[in-house]
Amino acid sequence: MKKLLCALLAAVMVLSLCACAKGQGEATPTGGENTTPSQTQGETTVPETTVAETTVPHEHEYKEKVTKDATCDAKGEKTFTCDCGDSYTEEIKKLDHDYSKATCKKPKTCKNCGKTSGDKASHKYSSGKCTVCGKFQSVANTKWRAYVVCSQNEMDEMVFSFTKSGGGFDVAIYAPASMMEGAKMVQIDGKKWYQEGFGYGSDEMSYQEKDNTVTVEIDGRGAQGTVVLERTAGNKLKVKSVKGTIIDEWITEDIQGVVFKLVG
Ligand SMILES: [Zn+2]
Ligand SMILES: [Zn+2]
Ligand SMILES: [Zn+2]
Repeated sequence: MKKLLCALLAAVMVLSLCACAKGQGEATPTGGENTTPSQTQGETTVPETTVAETTVPHEHEYKEKVTKDATCDAKGEKTFTCDCGDSYTEEIKKLDHDYSKATCKKPKTCKNCGKTSGDKASHKYSSGKCTVCGKFQSVANTKWRAYVVCSQNEMDEMVFSFTKSGGGFDVAIYAPASMMEGAKMVQIDGKKWYQEGFGYGSDEMSYQEKDNTVTVEIDGRGAQGTVVLERTAGNKLKVKSVKGTIIDEWITEDIQGVVFKLVG
């Protein structure tokens, strides 16, 4: 029994010795490892700092600013400035004139400097009225259909044409085609009209135009007088006044009103 105990004790001692020996062996290399990196660190950091401070040069970082705007007449200038105080300038090219289209109100106009070029454009008429400035088209070379309202409430249609001829103006009257048989017809506004031999001939009537008033002089076929027509905002001609002896089918005593509408 004592022998067995001794043997056991011996076995435990051997085991613990081995464990000891193992632990010591592991500890030694780790200790060695710990010292090595601290040495290398010291060697590498020192040279790095000295190189960075002495050899990298200052690079300018310029900010751009327009210091003089270019115009159609003169060059402009841009200034580039670095925080260190260094700066330089660059030229900006002169502008080209940038013209807007001409209208009946204004000739071609530069959007940059306001300079104009050439003449105004002609009016753009739609139904006898300029869509740009609102001016009425001259009655010259236009045709108007007359709506005559008589006391019997009849509507008597005729077309008047104000045309320029020779040194003055003439007025021609076109009567509805249904009134004449076998006569020469003209087509106006989708309808047929008879021109000659009815009412007043062009040599018996003339007209003058001023602003929005058209004055028609009649002298022939026993009639002598003046009819003043005035334009309405909707571009119709209304009889404003009748003076003199105007007889015949279209101006009679029982006429309540005459309105002319532009047809072409
Ligand atoms: Zn700089
Ligand atoms: Zn310009
Ligand atoms: Zn116009």
